[in-house]
Amino acid sequence: MKHLAEYKEEIHSCSKCGLCQSVCPIYKITGNDCSVSRGHFIMLRGLIKGELKMSKTLNRYLDLCLKCGACSKFCPSGIDVVDIIAAAKAEYFKAHPIEKLISFFQKKFVFGFGVDVLRIFASNTKSKNFDKKVIYFGGCSGRIKGNNSVVKLLNACGVEVLTPEFQCCGIPFFVRGDMKSFDDCAKSYLEIMNKYGIKDVVTTCASCEKTIKSFSPEFEIKNIFRYIKENNLKLKLKKKMKVTFHKPCNIDNYDDIKWVLDNTENLEYVEMNDFDKCCGLNGLSKFAEYGIMKNIFADKYKNILNSGAKTVLTSCLGCETALKLFSFGKYRVEDFTEFLVKNVQNDVL
Ligand code: SF4
Ligand code: SF4
Repeated sequence: MKHLAEYKEEIHSCSKCGLCQSVCPIYKITGNDCSVSRGHFIMLRGLIKGELKMSKTLNRYLDLCLKCGACSKFCPSGIDVVDIIAAAKAEYFKAHPIEKLISFFQKKFVFGFGVDVLRIFASNTKSKNFDKKVIYFGGCSGRIKGNNSVVKLLNACGVEVLTPEFQCCGIPFFVRGDMKSFDDCAKSYLEIMNKYGIKDVVTTCASCEKTIKSFSPEFEIKNIFRYIKENNLKLKLKKKMKVTFHKPCNIDNYDDIKWVLDNTENLEYVEMNDFDKCCGLNGLSKFAEYGIMKNIFADKYKNILNSGAKTVLTSCLGCETALKLFSFGKYRVEDFTEFLVKNVQNDVL
């Protein structure tokens, strides 16, 4: 992880064209340049030059960013804002003891009692043996839900699943700027993965996938839908079901997901408007900015209802949790892999 000053060149390469404003969901609500990449970079440039000090106000603007990456895709200079914001957050983290205290309790929750309570209903299955083997990086999702759906689907693809005990991928520490905790996670997971002598790692959560890719480039990390598509696994649901799909910002293999949506018999897929736009809820981590977030979510909510589907599928624990909490009983939200295993004809899996 680079220090903020090491991003000087990238920050300088911002031409101030303002294209990021046209796609930033936060800017659309606030109309405030400080809450979008262009404004972030102007402030961070001042910080690096010593003309500005890291303050609560600046930190709030950094926190407002959803890390959705929409601006980076449009940026003519190709600047990836997410890593730069994380480096700036690390500066704030170092200077503010209260951040360390929050991170301490966050760690206790995600590595301890919070997830331990939730995982009492986890459903686990022993994998069958095959020549082709993969390591399952379950993260929080795997700990809470168990490995049942990933083992069944991959076994049906002729793939054996090794299921070591992984904990949170570390993304909450990364976005808070607690790089020591993030690096500790990365180090311990690399040790576990290296023990097996296998380079193939499978995930079911988009955020886990993006995070572990950032610290393990020597591993081949794929989402489960890639395996389903590569193995041409055609599934059939027990009865006809109409669904829509919310694409988490961290997903980069929507083609594979779309293949499964299109090739599962009895599954009627309706693409909602802006299915690939951020839900604004950021895994509920933005509660302090509820006023802004609820405005962004209002569009997602409307698009879900307009799709006419009563079931929304997704593949990120953060999106799933947030979409469920704000469903107000109007639709169901399910993890796509769990949905498949629950509804597919029994003889297939
Ligand atoms: S789109 Fe890129 S170059 Fe243009 S203002 Fe935004 S961050 Fe700067
Ligand atoms: S990552 Fe998303 S929320 Fe953050 S500045 Fe870019 S478009 Fe806006």
